[in-house]
Amino acid sequence: MAIVDTDVHHGDGTQDIFYHDPNVLFISMHQDGRTLYPGTGFVDEKGGPNAWDSTLNIPLKPGTGDECFHYVLENWVLPRLREFEPELIINSAGQDNHFTDPLASMNVTARGYGKITELLQADLAVLEGGYSIQGALPYVNLAILLALAGEDYSNVIETAQLTRPQVSFSEFKTYLQNLQIKHRQAESDWIIREEARLPQGKWVIIPHPVYYDTEGFQENRYDYIRLCNNCGGTVYIESHSPLDGTNNALVRIPFAACPVCSQAGYDLWGNLQGQRKNVLFQDQSQNKIQFWQYPEGVTPY
Ligand SMILES: [Zn+2]
Repeated sequence: MAIVDTDVHHGDGTQDIFYHDPNVLFISMHQDGRTLYPGTGFVDEKGGPNAWDSTLNIPLKPGTGDECFHYVLENWVLPRLREFEPELIINSAGQDNHFTDPLASMNVTARGYGKITELLQADLAVLEGGYSIQGALPYVNLAILLALAGEDYSNVIETAQLTRPQVSFSEFKTYLQNLQIKHRQAESDWIIREEARLPQGKWVIIPHPVYYDTEGFQENRYDYIRLCNNCGGTVYIESHSPLDGTNNALVRIPFAACPVCSQAGYDLWGNLQGQRKNVLFQDQSQNKIQFWQYPEGVTPY
């Protein structure tokens, strides 16, 4: 399966869910995280140790418009999709790249969105962000729907003139070439651990702080992934909340888990109860979720 995120913000939540899953290709094109929330989505974020290169981030400069956006799709996103051969393509169809969007600074038009949709040929499109409620949404929606239906979207109108500074096409091509070189050269810098508290094998630790802009606090979080050649590997997340000082944990056994990773997950789940305030356990291969909270004990969830 492939998920292509064309929302102006980096798809940090979707990336997080599938970062260690080699069966899901996640591609996000978004306004550069140095200029827009959530501040993530750089080319060196390429997937976890058992799912390297199954995440592709393409940060774009503010002022990027139709021609450049379509160029990235045709010259980077579509070739990567063809290579991955997904059975299903899902489009996170955010509409805040529109040139009237009040939150972002991009220059995509309604018809430009029609062309994005036509190029992607997604099986499914899910509406995400879009904050120009009257100036853009009805027109962008219409163009997307027409393109999904294979109809002509060339008569969809724009309600305003494009006035924002524009990234020129020649400038953009140079920018993209450099970005592709950076992407090719980006290497993992995994910290590998073998500790008694981490069962069965080698684990990679990835610091993963998450800032919540609506609440104004940062979750201090570390992700541990069991290195495995036979499955996606067990994931263990340690999270410290600065709000109430609690330590919490998540253990996830992946889809089609190998027996060793499965056992490692159950061992961790057993060990962590009583040691953390909240422990969430997810066995994706058995479609099972359990939750433990101090001091009530195991609760089916
Ligand atoms: Zn495994």
